[in-house]
Amino acid sequence: MPEHVFKLDSSKKFTEQEKLGHNRWHPEIPPVATVKPGDSFRVDCREWFDGAIVNDDSAQDILDAPLLTVHTLSGPFRVEGAQPGDLLVVDILDVGPIPQEEGPLAGQGWGYTGIFSRNNGGGFLTEQFPDAYKAVWDFAGQTATSRHVPGVSFTGIIHPGLMGTAPSADLLATWNNREGALIATDPDRVPPLALPPEAEHAILGGVPKDEWGRVGSEAARTAPPRENGGNQDIKNFTKGSRVFYPVFVDGANLSMGDLHFSQGDGEITFCGAIEMGGFIDLRVDIIKGGMETYGVSENAIFMPGNVEPNYSHWLAFSGTSVTLDGEQRYLDSHLSYQRACLHAIDYLTKFGYSPEQAYLLLGAAPIEGRLSGVVDIPNSCSTVYLPVEIFDFDPRPSSAGPFQIDPGIGAPVAANK
Ligand code: ZN
Repeated sequence: MPEHVFKLDSSKKFTEQEKLGHNRWHPEIPPVATVKPGDSFRVDCREWFDGAIVNDDSAQDILDAPLLTVHTLSGPFRVEGAQPGDLLVVDILDVGPIPQEEGPLAGQGWGYTGIFSRNNGGGFLTEQFPDAYKAVWDFAGQTATSRHVPGVSFTGIIHPGLMGTAPSADLLATWNNREGALIATDPDRVPPLALPPEAEHAILGGVPKDEWGRVGSEAARTAPPRENGGNQDIKNFTKGSRVFYPVFVDGANLSMGDLHFSQGDGEITFCGAIEMGGFIDLRVDIIKGGMETYGVSENAIFMPGNVEPNYSHWLAFSGTSVTLDGEQRYLDSHLSYQRACLHAIDYLTKFGYSPEQAYLLLGAAPIEGRLSGVVDIPNSCSTVYLPVEIFDFDPRPSSAGPFQIDPGIGAPVAANK
């Protein structure tokens, strides 16, 4: 086993661990450990809500999800010799749930997918799904099944939703300026347009306590992906992946977390993957001056892992950039993907699923989302591909269908409003 440089005790909260991680991006958060180029090392990760979501049949915890506390990240890890302008090479050697059969924490044999309420988080289809729901998924080896979404089982492709290097002070200021300007266009919007710094719930690792107020009021929230990688939520970012991160500070200061047992493209419910805690084994290296050599100035590039389910038959749904009210929009791919997903959800309800079950399934299962056409004015065309093999029944249209699942089984429970 690689050296275990960040060990978490599952019985303790994130803030009670021997080494304290962080839940904001800031260049002054000091490294918790140093690794060398060529080193392999193991890092434990808490699930992103640090144990607030439990294995039961109510979505009350999703309704009350403590969004100001996310993401509980492990790190930062300083890479000896890394300097601004370098590329940090990170190999994902292995990644998995907490190696333990049973337990109270997500990752210990189970994980969850949530639909956030519109008033606390929202999601890709929050207009159609304003209430909180939850599905708990059980793991058996690489397979996920759920008492809340009957009739499906699928192979998870485990990956970290979030990994990235620390921003420089300049880059952090750039983020705060541009996201602040967006928020200012509609400051009272629900859900908000972006998440400004928030000091009260900031966890800042080894920053001296008397500095937490200042650093917390500048430190960036971890929800969006940015130039440093961050919360990219790429479902194929699994075992075998190699990433090249821009380095903005001495030592690179790499952090990670938000492990997912599985996820559909887009992570559409926002709490949309199968969230869990676990471990990740990494190996790092440096390409000196690589940012300029390869023109990688403001984004991470990566080689996806070659571990994925062997699904070969797909049922695809398409959407165009026309709103549900019939208004034509110009090449709006966000809208066309929403429409494709809504078409898939409508279709699945014909088999007995509730719309919420279908939405949860699209967030969690390894569905493929594609920008199929982005030039055919005025309609962008997005598609969502569902693997036929994940269903216990034949989900394809036929003159004999549709097969009906028992609608009474396992419907996920809505939160009390
Ligand atoms: Zn996640």
